[in-house]
Amino acid sequence: MSKMRAIQISKPHGPFELVERDIPTPSAGTVRIKIQACGICHSDAMVKDGLFPNIQYPKIPGHEVAGVIDALGDGVSDWSVGQRVGVGWYGGHCNSCEACRRGQFILCAKGKIPGITFDGGYAEYMIAPKEALALIPEELSAIEAAPLLCAGITTFNALRNSCARPGDTVAVLGIGGLGHLGIQFCAKMGFNTVAIARGKDKEPLAKQLGVKHYIDSQTDNIAKELQKFGGAKVILSTVTNNDAISPAVGGLGNNGELIIVGVPFEPIKISALSLILGNRAVKGWASGTSIDSQDTMNFSALTGVRSMNQTFPLEKVEEAYQLMLSGKARFRVVLVTEQAK
Ligand SMILES: [Zn+2]
Ligand SMILES: [Zn+2]
Repeated sequence: MSKMRAIQISKPHGPFELVERDIPTPSAGTVRIKIQACGICHSDAMVKDGLFPNIQYPKIPGHEVAGVIDALGDGVSDWSVGQRVGVGWYGGHCNSCEACRRGQFILCAKGKIPGITFDGGYAEYMIAPKEALALIPEELSAIEAAPLLCAGITTFNALRNSCARPGDTVAVLGIGGLGHLGIQFCAKMGFNTVAIARGKDKEPLAKQLGVKHYIDSQTDNIAKELQKFGGAKVILSTVTNNDAISPAVGGLGNNGELIIVGVPFEPIKISALSLILGNRAVKGWASGTSIDSQDTMNFSALTGVRSMNQTFPLEKVEEAYQLMLSGKARFRVVLVTEQAK
């Protein structure tokens, strides 16, 4: 049997190990993907550091996978070999828990996650359930598609399911892996787009990505600035440092929503009065299913939204992962296999 190269983690806090494994065979209802690119997401730390409950090791991380279907398991008739597909955070649902019975598959109590519940995309091949597949439009390369499958869908799907409508003011808190995509989606969706970030460094880039207004959270009063537009209908928070989140709530308009998609390390402090006076809400948003990924990629192909990426070969995974962790990546880090050529 032929072999593939893969990066595995053998125990919590263990190193990335470059290993040779047998190329897996797809079981019924699954396909094998010949992987071309896989983004490194902050959530991969859940595998690296053992933060997700009941992970079975060794595990191959990675849930921003782009490649080509290379073999079909039994009973897969609606996909074919040679199709370009992506796999994100959603890796299948049980079809019998209460959330599934209500059609909310991303909230499935037994939902599967690529790279966590089964082996993911830091490899040359992976097996994915057919329901986890999203078709990649021809306008996007595998490297362009990969970050859209987690960072992209998370911001795109949160925004399109929010209470904001074209013309409304929407602010994005943080310009990083998620935020630089979030501001592009906002601009292309026709929002009065505001970026909020620390310092002035990122202002030119934000403007280039379609932002109309820029707020420096270190020197400007966020709430006051946003209230100049009557308050934001939505503030999309992508930051991991929660310093700027609490003051931003005062910048919401009446009935506005603060939507949290970045994961701060500390609990968020929010004044109750600022929520009550104005019927404001704070909520989270959980990514989306494979068809939402497909919509994200199609929207990006149509409108020119692209992730800015730094690429690394599989064997440089440690360097790539450390760059992602440092917060200094501009802006997503993507592992690329030789099969991308
Ligand atoms: Zn992710
Ligand atoms: Zn379920």
